[in-house]
Amino acid sequence: MAVKAPKGTKDVLPQDSYKWHYVEDIARELTEEAGYREIRTPVFEHTELFLRGVGDTTDIVQKEMYTFTDKGDRSVTLKPEGTAGVVRAFIEGGLPSNAQPTKMYYLSAPVFRYEKPQSGRLREHHQFGVEVFGAADASIDAEVIGLALAMVKKAGLKKLKLNINSIGCDKCRPQYNETLRAYLKEHEGELCETCKQRMERNPLRVLDCKVESCQKIVAGAPKMIDHLCEECSSHFDDLKKYLEALEIGYTVNPLIVRGLDYYTKTVFEIISDSIGAQGTVCGGGRYDKLLKQIGGPDMPGIGFGMGIERLLLVMESEGIEIPEPSVTDVFVCTHGDAARLKAIRLVRDLREGGIKADMDHCARSIKAQFKYAGKIGVKTVIVLGEEEMEKGTAVLKTMETGEERAVRQDEIKIFLI
Ligand code: ATP
Ligand code: MG
Repeated sequence: MAVKAPKGTKDVLPQDSYKWHYVEDIARELTEEAGYREIRTPVFEHTELFLRGVGDTTDIVQKEMYTFTDKGDRSVTLKPEGTAGVVRAFIEGGLPSNAQPTKMYYLSAPVFRYEKPQSGRLREHHQFGVEVFGAADASIDAEVIGLALAMVKKAGLKKLKLNINSIGCDKCRPQYNETLRAYLKEHEGELCETCKQRMERNPLRVLDCKVESCQKIVAGAPKMIDHLCEECSSHFDDLKKYLEALEIGYTVNPLIVRGLDYYTKTVFEIISDSIGAQGTVCGGGRYDKLLKQIGGPDMPGIGFGMGIERLLLVMESEGIEIPEPSVTDVFVCTHGDAARLKAIRLVRDLREGGIKADMDHCARSIKAQFKYAGKIGVKTVIVLGEEEMEKGTAVLKTMETGEERAVRQDEIKIFLI
């Protein structure tokens, strides 16, 4: 039996890769216009990085990481999110001593999570993300959110919702956690087993629980947004002002806490109504303590991650057509060895002239070559038969009109390039 791909992985086949290129091109253009440069980090890191960075009370760390011991007896983990690796590379690369902020993006970076595979939820997915280090002003929060929105809008998405929230900082959150814990304790009997533990270790996580009975309790819980300290509160007000200046519509959703422990102040999500449960296309927020936590300087950070597969899924469900580039525009049909030798050079020259050209590599008859050219949808067929080779000519056939013309071989390029 043939070996199958692991559950929760998805191939991008050659006939579909143009869709990825389409969104990748948009992402690269938008971020580079705004002064972001690409960063690439390894697919695996020391497990400790994610324990320290992502947080050991999160679902990601507790249930979803691909962790294994390598042959050198080190515990390594396949990236379960993009930010921690970027922070590590930033520190290790000595970038904190540069002029700040540092604006970075990553494109189609593989992310691994041991989740129950379903539509829009894979065990290996890919993210486009940005990270900005060294800027504390709410204007950068608005820029980052604006970039994420520009991306999904340029991709053609329509039914979008931007949810924002503030989850405070280490000045106001501990006190709020106590208030929330006290409330949850009163309703402990109605919470799911996991939330009973979450309530003790990290009560904010309960707000994110998908269990219905927990959601009912959460609806009446005190909200972080009502318990922000002066600094967080004015940061959030500033963010709203900047978003309004950019004419970006938003909803304040006090229940967004995000699935990673490192967030402080701003958190946000972009949700599409088009694909149901897995509709979160993008999630992000500010993480002002993360750099220090990972052993770097006390420097603020903000970023987002956007799932490429999910983005493509939403585009498909909204009927957004991605222009499909042609594979081959000119096909050279040959008969005889002399013609083949001429053709291989001609194909090379046409390609150098920017034309997508090809010839037969399967020893097909000239008739079968024609048929093949029709099948792959070429625009022009060039015929180099025995007769043409004797006369030094070629027949150019325009497939759409059926029009044929005989030209001199040394003039073929003039007609095409
Ligand atoms: P969700 O609530 O859907 O599980 P998340 O909060 O775990 O999402 P993030 O960690 O913020 O997601 O990741 C950023 C983006 O990556 C998500 O908004 C989504 O588009 C995508 N993503 C996350 N997990 C998966 C997955 N298992 N398969 C495909 N895409 C994913
Ligand atoms: Mg998740």
